[in-house]
Amino acid sequence: LAQLFRPLDMLGMVYRMIRQGLIDMEAMFRLIDTPPEIRDADDAGPLIVTGGAVTFENVVFGYEPDRTILNGVSFAVGAGETLAIVGPSGAGKSTIARLLFRFYDPQGGRVTIDGQDIKAVTQKSLRAEIGIVPQDTVLFNDSIGYNIAYGRADASAEEIAAAAEGAAIDGFIALLPQGYETEVGERGLKLSGGEKQRVAIARTLLKNPPILILDEATSALDSRTEAAIQATLDRIAERRTTLVIAHRLSTVVNADRIIVLEKGRVAETGTHEQLLAMRGLYADMWARQQAEKEEGTV
Ligand code: ATP
Repeated sequence: LAQLFRPLDMLGMVYRMIRQGLIDMEAMFRLIDTPPEIRDADDAGPLIVTGGAVTFENVVFGYEPDRTILNGVSFAVGAGETLAIVGPSGAGKSTIARLLFRFYDPQGGRVTIDGQDIKAVTQKSLRAEIGIVPQDTVLFNDSIGYNIAYGRADASAEEIAAAAEGAAIDGFIALLPQGYETEVGERGLKLSGGEKQRVAIARTLLKNPPILILDEATSALDSRTEAAIQATLDRIAERRTTLVIAHRLSTVVNADRIIVLEKGRVAETGTHEQLLAMRGLYADMWARQQAEKEEGTV
């Protein structure tokens, strides 16, 4: 019976992911293997990561031909650095992440990792080097251990436990009736938004990629959970090239560099202090968020 249900589960999951705007891209890719229009070049070799430097060079992209979302976006993230991407809703922040994972190809310009155009390397090798902590993680109807190890079927119990510890979800699992064997997902134990995010973090730690994409949750976590998760994310971003898709400015203050997207372009770039001193878009957004915080609406 389980064999009959698993494909049905997967179909349901793919459907939900599509409906939710592909928020769990990695899981999606493993299921359908590859999006239809993206192909490996005939002579594609593996991506060779030396440090994990990422560049977007004059990238032009639209999902539909008559609506450009990115209109000549350029930026560079040095190996091991953290870049935060901010901008109004719909500015194209998540689109940048999808292009780096090569879910789509740009219509102009290029995306490189350590100097290699990502279109010229195999998709498999590209995706092996990038970890994504999505806004919302889709859990499989299986044990919490399986969900953490998902994508690393060869992971040992020790490795799974170490990843859970790194993601600070080990204490929670220890209190579950069947520990790592406890069933989660729609037919098992329901996890909170914060717990699901920790499963995603543990999964990423097991994968141990040199490049990370953190898609900050827009859904409200209580402020203590949020601060604790932020601390965990800061730790895993150390020594990795990290792109943070930021919805709250308070989490980008420590980024090495921030880019502000507006109308398909990089409108401003700099550190938090530099951007505040510019008194432009970022400074306005910051002032607005601070005011909202004081009013207690955020
Ligand atoms: P938010 O802060 O609200 O998450 P964002 O800056 O991450 O927004 P994107 O998700 O990158 O924005 O979307 C940029 C634009 O592209 C939006 O106008 C959106 O409607 C459009 N878009 C996103 N995904 C698709 C898609 N699969 N097909 C067509 N248009 C899309």
